[in-house]
Amino acid sequence: MPEHDNGLARLERQLEIDFERLNLPVKSWCPPSPESGSQCDILIVGAGMCGLAAAFALRCQGVTAIRHIDHHNDGYEGPWLNYARMQTLRSPKHLTGPALGFANLTFRAWYEAQHGSDGWETLDRIGRTVWMDYLRWYRRVTGAQVENNIRLTSIQPFSEQVVVSCTNANGNSSEITTRQLILATGREGQSQPRVPKALVNLFSQSDHRVQHSSASIDFSALAGARVAVVGLSASAFDNAATALEAGASQVTILGRADALPSVNKMKQTVYPGFTHGYPLLSDDWKIRIMRYIAQTRIAPPRGSVLRIADNPRAELLLDAEITRATDNGNSIQLTSKKGDVAADYVILATGFSIDLHSPPECQSLAAHILRWGDRMPNEPLDEWMNAPCLGDGFEFLSRPASPLPGLDRIRCFTHTAQLSLGNLANDIPAVSEGAFRLATSVTAALFAADIDYHWQRLTEYGEPELLGYEWPV
Ligand SMILES: Cc1cc2nc3c(=O)[nH]c(=O)nc-3n(C[C@H](O)[C@H](O)[C@H](O)COP(=O)(O)OP(=O)(O)OC[C@H]3O[C@@H](n4cnc5c(N)ncnc54)[C@H](O)[C@@H]3O)c2cc1C
Repeated sequence: MPEHDNGLARLERQLEIDFERLNLPVKSWCPPSPESGSQCDILIVGAGMCGLAAAFALRCQGVTAIRHIDHHNDGYEGPWLNYARMQTLRSPKHLTGPALGFANLTFRAWYEAQHGSDGWETLDRIGRTVWMDYLRWYRRVTGAQVENNIRLTSIQPFSEQVVVSCTNANGNSSEITTRQLILATGREGQSQPRVPKALVNLFSQSDHRVQHSSASIDFSALAGARVAVVGLSASAFDNAATALEAGASQVTILGRADALPSVNKMKQTVYPGFTHGYPLLSDDWKIRIMRYIAQTRIAPPRGSVLRIADNPRAELLLDAEITRATDNGNSIQLTSKKGDVAADYVILATGFSIDLHSPPECQSLAAHILRWGDRMPNEPLDEWMNAPCLGDGFEFLSRPASPLPGLDRIRCFTHTAQLSLGNLANDIPAVSEGAFRLATSVTAALFAADIDYHWQRLTEYGEPELLGYEWPV
């Protein structure tokens, strides 16, 4: 019998022992929470990697009155089975991701338990769907209690609590009152698809001939079609490959840059010094680093480029910024410096830009949230200036001119935290450190807010150490 038969069951038993030895989850120390399910200490919105890591980090701190929602179906959270179209992750397989310091919770442990150490050695990159399987397992063994098919629709902070509205799959609404709200809403949260100016009108048409790569594109409709893909990102190559594999007759990738970016500077930020030191840097250093990384552009993964490089139906046009896009009825004409391209469909693999007004749930808050543009009014108004300027525990801060009581009860544990706190809530490498930071800050806030209760417990505490007859007198 191969050594790894029943390996997963053994790993799970080992994890239980790890948790037991570390007394996890820590016993709840918060004031008893009300019976009603509509009130909780923490509401986490989003059960992707960041939301799951946050939930487990909080339970490890003894914070248990948590509700956790996600609007996707159970097991389909995040981009992986939705709009991600790569074959494998960009990240190297050895990253420990959301494991929060538990060796037995790593992707490697999970993979080796099923495929043995030989399987691990021969694995090159983590398959996209395999990663989703790992996240499903992570959710189960860390005891996350996620309620799926529930969408957060509005947020109203008050000085003592936050009241949110949600809608379920049947369209029924409900309210939840929470003391702290964690938005782990991913790229969908606080952002919107970046659309080149020339394509704004065609993008808003309802015929879906111009779509963003984050849409659920029906690739079967692209069979036999000419497809233009805009951008040089990982998504550009993965969407181009998916279109070719679906039978597109021709795929043209158009990029603004005059050379394909070949380096991923983000990789040079994955070390403890950067993770822990970045949040302490001055504003000038923060913006300098993030702008530099963005300006040098991130190379598409080699595997994604090789996926189509030899395909005679694929074409790459560099230095080809689109200056005009016209709908000729039968086709869309894209005008660029490199000439015109006629396409039946256009896919915008142009990423997302931060827009606090964009998710419906944030609309009533957006005008109150302090942004980097408020903090650095003399800086050029690029997209970074729209990013929220967060406190040390990912909390929103109020603009001085329009304070909103309770806004700091809302924690923004998404990629929009990047300029404030570094790469703690966007990618796999430092998500555990991000979750620790978040959980520690939330735990401290709950304790401080409940100091009367904790004082009373301290004064009432009387468990004797000595029983009175240890020293006979
Ligand atoms: C195509 C793609 C490939 C990537 N590849 C890599 C990679 O190789 N390596 C790497 O390190 N990073 C990668 N990333 C970046 C990052 O790791 C992922 O985006 C990751 O999914 C981030 O996790 P998250 O929990 O922040 O967001 P998500 O996984 O997107 O989860 C957010 C969840 O919030 C839910 N949600 C949003 N709004 C609401 C609402 N109003 N109500 C209820 N639920 C809501 C969504 O349903 C979703 O399930 C990739 C990202 C993308 C888009």
